[in-house]
Amino acid sequence: MAIRALVWNENEHEKRNALVKKLYPHGIHNAIAAAFADQTDIEVDTATLDMPEHGLTEDRLAKTDVLLWWGHMAHGKVDDAIVERVQKRVWEGMGLIVLHSGHFSKIFKRLLGTPCSLKWREAGEVERVWVINRNHPIAAGLPECIEIEHEEMYGEPFTIPEPLETVFISWFEGGEVFRSGVTFQRGAGRIFYFRPGHEAYPTYHNPLVLKVLSNATRWAYNSARPWTSVDDAPNVPHDKAPVPLIVKGPRLHEDGEEGYR
Ligand code: ZN
Repeated sequence: MAIRALVWNENEHEKRNALVKKLYPHGIHNAIAAAFADQTDIEVDTATLDMPEHGLTEDRLAKTDVLLWWGHMAHGKVDDAIVERVQKRVWEGMGLIVLHSGHFSKIFKRLLGTPCSLKWREAGEVERVWVINRNHPIAAGLPECIEIEHEEMYGEPFTIPEPLETVFISWFEGGEVFRSGVTFQRGAGRIFYFRPGHEAYPTYHNPLVLKVLSNATRWAYNSARPWTSVDDAPNVPHDKAPVPLIVKGPRLHEDGEEGYR
């Protein structure tokens, strides 16, 4: 069965800005989705902010193996209940790929629990995305460096938790560096953050950038059944302990009592 990928995009710059509209006439989401068209092991769909429930209904998420997320000017318009729903699916095992300015999305900050702040500059400078973990599946088939002619600069310090793996580090023409490809795991879900993708430049037409996204989709895919009880916290009575147990000492809780949250 093919990996079911869903590309989510706020799709706001494309509607408001002529430059972005020219680069991505059908939206960034469709530019990314088009790149998956020739990947027979991935089937792709798209969703946008303006759809009912942002296109992220319970049913849609249940049928999604890997969610890709592009957001920027409308982070604050994403409903908290939907963010919570996406978080639960990540905990259950859905992969999540957060792109570029998505570092400040509610879902990324919530899953990582740190400010996720960084330095930035919009000067159309060269970015060199260096592969520092050559055998990582996300780097499969890449040269030692992806050179992007025009990009926005993101610079360290990037206030994320220490990553599980760092796959890419970027160098910018102006001198800064940035951890531009990093992985995390939250619950059963794999998370990959990939830096390039400023809306004013044609980054999502770069075949190597798109290759990273398809590699990352395969890496983030978890073929196990969703761990739907991942958020449960059962009170296991003494007579159900793996080894028979005699209750000792005082107790605050009754057998089978729900814990506090
Ligand atoms: Zn940007």
